Amino acid sequence: MTIAQKLSFDVQLSDHARTAAEREQVMANPVFGKVFTDHMISIDFTEGRGWHDARLMPYGPLALEPATAVFHYGQEIFEGLKAYRQSGGSVVTFRPYANAARFNRSAVRLAMPELPEETFVESLELLVQTEREWVPMPEGHSLYLRPFMIATQPGLGVNYPSKTYKYMVIASPAASYFAGGIKPVSVWLSTEYTRAAPGGTGEAKCGGNYAAAFVAQRQAVEQGCDQVVWLDAQEHRHVEEMGGMNLFFVFGDKLVTPALTGSLLAGITRDSILTLAGELGLEVEERLVSVDEWEAGCASGELTEVFACGTAAIVTPVGSVKGADRSWTIGDGSPGEVTMRVREELIGIQYGTRPDPHNWVHKIL
Ligand SMILES: *Cc1c(COP(=O)(O)O)cnc(C)c1O
Repeated sequence: MTIAQKLSFDVQLSDHARTAAEREQVMANPVFGKVFTDHMISIDFTEGRGWHDARLMPYGPLALEPATAVFHYGQEIFEGLKAYRQSGGSVVTFRPYANAARFNRSAVRLAMPELPEETFVESLELLVQTEREWVPMPEGHSLYLRPFMIATQPGLGVNYPSKTYKYMVIASPAASYFAGGIKPVSVWLSTEYTRAAPGGTGEAKCGGNYAAAFVAQRQAVEQGCDQVVWLDAQEHRHVEEMGGMNLFFVFGDKLVTPALTGSLLAGITRDSILTLAGELGLEVEERLVSVDEWEAGCASGELTEVFACGTAAIVTPVGSVKGADRSWTIGDGSPGEVTMRVREELIGIQYGTRPDPHNWVHKIL
């Protein structure tokens, strides 16, 4: 079927939705990703039939056979984006078509069906419209949206990818990542483990990448660090990412970020910063950055700041680095001026307090 057929969503409202008082209690102090709203989106895919049974329904458990493909072979992809309540009262998302496009790139890599971008964005709109009361008011707070897709065919045969899939979206109110103020993170350089290798799934947003990363993140914590920094698979020499975020190195008024070599996840926040940099009077460069350059740059003072970026925390300063046989501080270890300028610009666009020259903000309500 090549002609995109517009799906219409069946709406089944919950008869046990939480009351305003219950909701307010939960939203007063939301722990990231712990509490979910009253509804969710579900769309099924069957080979030969395409996408069908699009619906908004009460949030609740799924019934799947234990033999379902996703439980055994990890065929799963996801996205993450936020709905923001702007100062003027509008509810918006940020670049949802970029998430839709990346979702489909991930789908292709994991041999899963693509979802029309319009359907992806429509599913977010329908969920956010239904859950409008769940979009928090304070600046820095948001409704986190988690679209994902799983392989649902039962059977342990691995000769073929699944012939059936389920796409879903769930939503969770989120407080500011920096409730106690902006604190630079410390990072551990992982040379024992690798996140992604050429030809692997590093470019795809799939759960399997995270499953393989937890052991290194645990090691980072054992080393007294907040986050793991991933290096290239062949030599463990070049910097790739920090946990689930992309990295930027600040050399005076030049931003340098690791090039997308195929084993990095192409962050939408990363792309937005590269686009905004010129407007902020900053040069940009995408290239390889080695650990040696990082350490030497901090020693000479040429490398003034390092920050990580991603949807969840937007922009996070990196304060110090530790590896198996070395450790150093970036600048004086406190959040840098360029880091904070980039952060404020992005947040300003998202919350509607700064102009949006690239039309990134997508109004839902
Ligand atoms: C999602 C993700 C990012 C950040 O992407 P954004 O689109 O900016 O949120 C970076 N690295 C990894 C591994 C990720 O999964």
